[in-house]
Amino acid sequence: MNFDFSDEQRMLQDTVRRYINEKIMPIADEMDRKGPMSKANAQRFLRDLKEFGYVGTLVSEEDGGPGLTHMEWPILFEELRRGYASLGGVVGITSASTGRIANGGNLELKKRILPGLLNGDTIICSAITEPNVGSDTAAIETKAVPDGEYYVINGTKMWISNGTIADYAIVTLKIVDPATGKQRPGQILVEKSQSPFTSREIHKLGVRSFPTAEMIFEDCRVPPSFYWARGCAATRNARFPRPFAPRPPSGSPPRPYRFTGPTVFRKNIP
Ligand SMILES: Cc1cc2nc3c(=O)[nH]c(=O)nc-3n(C[C@H](O)[C@H](O)[C@H](O)COP(=O)(O)OP(=O)(O)OC[C@H]3O[C@@H](n4cnc5c(N)ncnc54)[C@H](O)[C@@H]3O)c2cc1C
Repeated sequence: MNFDFSDEQRMLQDTVRRYINEKIMPIADEMDRKGPMSKANAQRFLRDLKEFGYVGTLVSEEDGGPGLTHMEWPILFEELRRGYASLGGVVGITSASTGRIANGGNLELKKRILPGLLNGDTIICSAITEPNVGSDTAAIETKAVPDGEYYVINGTKMWISNGTIADYAIVTLKIVDPATGKQRPGQILVEKSQSPFTSREIHKLGVRSFPTAEMIFEDCRVPPSFYWARGCAATRNARFPRPFAPRPPSGSPPRPYRFTGPTVFRKNIP
């Protein structure tokens, strides 16, 4: 397989490298010294960077995204993280979480929230890690219990990127069946304005302007349409145990690697 960059990919790399060197690097040090980035600053950066395909990078053009591929993603984020690592975090989490909505959200959710996310107007985070659990997602303690028309979420999340500035959180949790007490893994999108939660900044030694939060969900009531339509699709990515990840039978030949979208970028480059 040929992994050389295409002409378009090389042009994308040159263009973003120039932009990051000229516009981002000169302000990065000072921004990082000031501590966690404000929401207004994050939005400003997102709106500027979306022109290059940084926001919702892998979201298809059909869904209103740039429709780039896993080849352009590292080109974009290598440059941004080189120039300003904290901003790479803010934008990378927004972009990846927007992709999770496009891939797993039901139609109503997509129609309602994708446009704001893809414009850089709204900010999203993915809340998986917990204080008692760390990376062991199978042991997640945050619970959602159905109550009439709603899910009621209780639990604490830790180290959540963008957690203090996010309008939306995709929360990985266990859904409890009140009749049997059985629990199954799931994800619920929480819209802060409708279903308030609290978050507290965790100050760090490095990447200081990358907001990172402890998030507390206390009887947080979420409407049913916000339940993740395709169950565990993104949970698989979040390292839930193997049973959720289909594997080919042993002895099968390796599957060829396939790109899932167009390999050209087509956004206007200023
Ligand atoms: C800047 C920053 C941003 C972050 N952003 C997010 C975010 O947006 N959303 C989110 O959900 N989380 C986020 N995290 C959390 C990050 O994903 C966690 O730090 C990570 O999941 C590891 O959890 P932990 O730190 O509790 O380590 P632990 O889970 O305690 O693991 C510590 C070490 O032990 C190893 N280990 C653990 N269990 C085993 C085992 N059974 N066998 C062998 N080795 C084991 C691990 O591999 C690891 O090396 C962020 C963290 C940081 C620092």
